[in-house]
Amino acid sequence: MPTHKGHEPETIDLIVIGAGCAGLSLAGELCKYEQNGEAPPKTLLIEPRSSYTTDRSWCYWEPTTLASPNDVDASWLSWSFSDSKQTFVHTLAQKWHYQYLNSGRFYRQRLAAINESHRVSVNLGESVQDVSQHNNGFRVRTNKAEYHCLKIVDTRPPTRKRLEQSLMLQIFYGIEIEIPGSHSIDLRLAKVMSDMRSDKLGFKFNYVLPLSPRSLLVEITRFTDRLIEPDDLRDETYQLACDIVGSTQLSIIREERGIVPMGLPMRHATLSPNPNISNRVLVGLGGGAARPATGYAFQRLQRWAHDCAQRLMEAGTLVTMQPDSRLVQWMDRVFLLTLKNNPQLGPKLFIALARRVRPVRLVRFLTDQATVFDLIAIIAALPVTPLLLTAFRDTKNQLVSLTGNPKCSTT
Ligand SMILES: Cc1cc2nc3c(=O)[nH]c(=O)nc-3n(C[C@H](O)[C@H](O)[C@H](O)COP(=O)(O)OP(=O)(O)OC[C@H]3O[C@@H](n4cnc5c(N)ncnc54)[C@H](O)[C@@H]3O)c2cc1C
Repeated sequence: MPTHKGHEPETIDLIVIGAGCAGLSLAGELCKYEQNGEAPPKTLLIEPRSSYTTDRSWCYWEPTTLASPNDVDASWLSWSFSDSKQTFVHTLAQKWHYQYLNSGRFYRQRLAAINESHRVSVNLGESVQDVSQHNNGFRVRTNKAEYHCLKIVDTRPPTRKRLEQSLMLQIFYGIEIEIPGSHSIDLRLAKVMSDMRSDKLGFKFNYVLPLSPRSLLVEITRFTDRLIEPDDLRDETYQLACDIVGSTQLSIIREERGIVPMGLPMRHATLSPNPNISNRVLVGLGGGAARPATGYAFQRLQRWAHDCAQRLMEAGTLVTMQPDSRLVQWMDRVFLLTLKNNPQLGPKLFIALARRVRPVRLVRFLTDQATVFDLIAIIAALPVTPLLLTAFRDTKNQLVSLTGNPKCSTT
């Protein structure tokens, strides 16, 4: 498919830039159509990695009825939120689980499906350097070749410059550890926000998942507006793991680190004036996959991949990430601005949600399935004054930016 001297390259239907979570999810969905005897568009994924490791794990809440036990590597019936004084444990009578998926297995499964495919392929060890318009499609130049295609799905992660435009950032460092004996953490409980606290860099908490009697995933997470390096949390995370197991006798099985944008401005998601007919879309974290108030992105990417593959098969067009409703966007923004301006309120805000909102309502809110009553319950649970002040200031600032009248500006 690449250019050979003197020949125009064969035109590919679709190039997917990046074979991470978004790219491989779309590829996996297209392969399913092929396995069912249909012909998905001729698709090429281009990925700089030459091999994959378990560089992350994905967690999300899922109703038990939808979960297939073979698709996850661990799952918990209860999850907890705590600060220095109190702990709230949420359980949903077997209906919802907090699920854990090992990325290594996810990558292997999707790559195996691509390997079997005659329509979808992946070039590893190759990096896209430039994309330009060409005839009725695009020219894609990589470090190895040049390609022509009709459509592009760009899943490259946001640059540092774009990350800096995000309202806040979720920055974390984690280690999966194994110990010689067994730890004392309840295997049925995922500590999703534990020991919530704040310091001069903002709000932070611990994330502790007991994977087996001998192994744990231990992470420290910050919600901050400063672009710090996840590795700055390394020593503290190691110390936390030692404190939890009461020993320094632990083996590190793997590490994971991340910077997830919370509230990335979304003006670049489609590069066409009409999002319905765009032939080039930006998806994944750079395309607004992460829910602003939580940073969770995996399930949103699965939904997008399913919808995008379906639309490609039915209409031959692409879809971008589905935006949240206006109300949810507004709530997330006010919540994040409040947290950004008052990081010391972080524990209070999350504890209020854990204490005052029924677990099922909170989980539906966190997984983008909130009803209007859920949203009302969330708003009613939160402390009114700081959120109202934030909402008022934000509205005023937005009016100023629209009217250009600096006299109205507040900070
Ligand atoms: C450690 C970690 C843990 C996470 N845990 C969770 C979780 O528990 N739950 C949840 O919902 N979300 C989680 N997330 C957030 C989100 O789900 C993941 O970041 C997810 O992998 C995002 O998918 P993506 O396709 O946008 O990005 P990626 O999976 O990072 O894929 C982007 C791909 O683009 C490739 N690329 C980069 N430059 C080029 C180039 N020039 N040419 C071609 N390809 C290029 C990269 O190599 C990469 O493979 C986590 C994120 C991280 C980093």
